[in-house]
Amino acid sequence: MPDAATVRLKQVRERIHAAAKAAGRNPDTIVLIGVAKTRSAEEVRAMAGAGLIHCGENYLQEALQKQAALTDLPLIWHFIGALQGNKTRTVAERFDWVHTVDRLKLLQRLSAQRPAGLAPLQVCLQVNLDQEASKAGLAPSAVAELAQAAIELPGLELRGLMALPKPSNDMDAQRASLRRLRVLADTLRPQLPDGCCSVLSMGMSNDLEAAIAEGATHVRVGTALFGPRPAAGTAAQGEHA
Ligand SMILES: *Cc1c(COP(=O)(O)O)cnc(C)c1O
Repeated sequence: MPDAATVRLKQVRERIHAAAKAAGRNPDTIVLIGVAKTRSAEEVRAMAGAGLIHCGENYLQEALQKQAALTDLPLIWHFIGALQGNKTRTVAERFDWVHTVDRLKLLQRLSAQRPAGLAPLQVCLQVNLDQEASKAGLAPSAVAELAQAAIELPGLELRGLMALPKPSNDMDAQRASLRRLRVLADTLRPQLPDGCCSVLSMGMSNDLEAAIAEGATHVRVGTALFGPRPAAGTAAQGEHA
């Protein structure tokens, strides 16, 4: 009997595979980031044992504890949580990727604080596709200017765009929303050096198929991989420091 982590990871990989095939895409070009917020280091270890390579975290203190417990594993760490100036140093020191940058000041700090011995921090700019006041992210019209600033910074490598669209259970509505991130990236790409806008970080448990149909290169999957999270207010969900 395969263990639960192996079964879940296989299920998610099968969804990715089927969605890629349906879209005429090569499934090997889609990176699965397992979103581990509220999950224990042991759960992440089990998932890594099953073959997960990329781990996404939202809450810094929680992430640091898990990283300390998992130093023996070759995991690639992605910061996908709300980013403020007081967190940039730790993110720059402890993560390989950050998907949630939406201001010049944050880019400058991350670049300056990236330790010289490490490869440049891999960065995606977060776009607020639906202009929701409750969410972080740049207005689509502001992305080109920030991208131009990002490519000048030596501690960073700009990789692409990230979005967290308004939730919907309707595949057509999901696709319409995600398509706007793809179109934005397509518009931006010719203005930037090669590779600076090749990543589309979009797609979660509920809109994985829509995201892959619209060109996602990095999907961020929590619930479908680790199971339902405890309700907000319990576990580490409340931590926003
Ligand atoms: C929690 C989270 C996810 C994963 O969401 P699921 O619906 O559990 O797959 C993806 N991206 C971000 C930014 C998140 O905060």
